[in-house]
Formats: sequence, structure tokens, C-alpha cells
Amino acid sequence: MSKTIDILIPCYNEEAVLRECYRRTKDMFSKIVGYDFRFILINDGSTDGTLAIMRELHEQDAAVNYLDLSRNFGKELAMMAGIDFSTGDALVVMDADLQDPPELIKEMIKYWQEGYDDVSAKRRSRAGESFFKKWSSHAYYRILQRVSDIDVQRDVGDFRLLDRRCVNALKELREAQRYTKGLFTWVGFRKKEILFDRDARAAGQTKWNYWKLFNLAVEGLTGFTIVPLRAASFIGFLLAIIAIVYMLCIVIKTLMYGDPVPGYPSLVSLILFIGGVQMMFLGIIGEYLGRVFNESKRRPLYLVQEINGKRTDGKGFGEENPPSTP
Ligand code: UDP
Ligand code: MG
Repeated sequence: MSKTIDILIPCYNEEAVLRECYRRTKDMFSKIVGYDFRFILINDGSTDGTLAIMRELHEQDAAVNYLDLSRNFGKELAMMAGIDFSTGDALVVMDADLQDPPELIKEMIKYWQEGYDDVSAKRRSRAGESFFKKWSSHAYYRILQRVSDIDVQRDVGDFRLLDRRCVNALKELREAQRYTKGLFTWVGFRKKEILFDRDARAAGQTKWNYWKLFNLAVEGLTGFTIVPLRAASFIGFLLAIIAIVYMLCIVIKTLMYGDPVPGYPSLVSLILFIGGVQMMFLGIIGEYLGRVFNESKRRPLYLVQEINGKRTDGKGFGEENPPSTP
């Protein structure tokens, strides 16, 4: 029996490119023999004609499966839905906008056959992205790498081929606030990076903006390291020592010279400084507390309202509610 490879494509308002994406990927598959390919398209609450296109592709081609989420859950959770749904021997995660060239899948399969479990595509260049985006992403990965316990892959997106055992491991990680890129690293297994030139988006609009990117960046930091909390304790400790030394100086000075005009400006600036530091670290602690709050609600990660043309009862998949095999 030949091996099956699932292609997971999360889509949010991708009517402009979805057909082209399907066609190019399908084209690619016809050139690779010895594998069965299956599409898992996730409609992440699109407001345009994306779902209609998915239905149409499913009618035409039995290899196309689609899941319609009940609203927009964001790419991370849309991917989770696809990971839960996947039953193949391997899973390829790909963007709908053809920024990830499907032609690369052939090379990924080659390395998979050599025994790698996680073959990811590393960007050699990034066409169509602003200087600031490139620079900030570079700086961010350096910081994350420094402070987190795990080695997050640099310049690597979600475009990758995962062996079954990686997929199974990812299914176990059911945190609500996901930073999938960190999770890929967390599960480990044999990794291989291949280089590619990232194209500009084929058509349609990017869903990312700097606010979303910033949020994802905070997610990455707070999800994988408690270094900021430790920094809070450290800086607090340092300030306390400075304060004690300063107090001693004042006591000695007063004993020797008496107390002339009290220093009002230095007092105010000290209060402001310490107040600011406290606020900052309260914020950081709040960030972690917020994560605990969100995880403790134990909500399903996403809800599905339609699978391959059939209505569902709307439950999210979980260990207690596995997806039915199509
Ligand atoms: N996406 C999604 N849900 C969202 C936002 C994006 O499923 O809420 C999908 C989108 O359809 C695309 C992929 O995630 O297939 C990457 O999105 P985009 O191209 O906008 O991001 P960029 O490549 O600019 O980082
Ligand atoms: Mg894109």
C-alpha cells in the first residue's frame, strides 16, 4: 500500500488564490509517484467565497477534504484543526497564498524518506516584505533564542512536512494560546531544514499586521520562557540592595553633617522610577497570569460546523472527541 500524505492549508478569505493554489499543488502531485495525496483545507471563518470554492473542489475531487470552522479562530488554531483531522503518514502544512511553493514538497518527501521527521523550509530571501518586517523578525528570533529554553528555528515558517509521530505529538499539545513554531521545536525529533526563496503573495491581502505580529511575538516569549519573571525578581532584588546602600549613606551623612535642605527632586524621580519598574513587572506577571486564566478555562480549541459537505454537531476535536475518518 502506498503512503498517504496530507496537505493542510488554512484559509482565511483566500478566494483570490485558493483555486490557483489547488491547481498548482495538484499539478505537482501528478509528478510524484508512489504516494496518495489528500488535501485538508480549513476554512477559518472566511467572509468571502472561500467556502464555496472548497465545496466545489470537494465535489470535483475526492482527494479534497475541507473543514469549516464556526468562526475565525486564527491560523494557529486552524492548523490545530487540520492536525487533529489528519490521518496520513505525513502532513505538509502550507499557506494558501502560494508564498510557500508547492514544488518544494518533492524535496521534503525525499528527506522524509531518508528518515527525517520534520522537514521545514527555511527562507533564503523574502520577496515583497518591508525592511522593517525583515529586521524586526530577525531581531525577535535572536532575543527568543537567547531567553527561551528551546532553540526556535530562525527564518522558518510553518511550511513543513511532518512525520506521523510529530503529528501525534502535536495533537497532545492542547494549549489554547498556541505558538506553533515553538511547539514544532518543542516536540523535537529529527529535523532537517531546506532553503528556499519566499515569493510574494500571489494575490489577495495579507491577514497579518504589526499588532498581530506583536501579539504572536508575546505569545512566543511567554509560552516558552519564564525569563521575564526571573528578570523581575532580579531587578527587584538589585533595586532593594541599591536602596539599602543608599539608606546607609544617608544615615551616615546625616550623623556627620546633620540634615540640610531635603532633596525633593531626587525623591520624586526615585518614586517615579521605582513606580515605573513596578508597573512594568506587574504587567509581565499579569501576562503570565492571563495565560493561566486562559488555559484554566479548558475550552475546546475550535469548533467545526461543516466537514466535507456535512453538518457537524459543532464540537471541537479532542482526545474524548476524535475526528471521524472520512
Ligand atoms: N490564515 C488563517 N486564519 C487567519 C489568518 C490567516 O487561516 O486568521 C491563513 C491564510 O489564509 C494563509 C496563511 O494563514 O493561508 C498565512 O496568512 P498570510 O499570508 O496572511 O500571512 P503572511 O504570509 O503575510 O505572514
Ligand atoms: Mg502569506
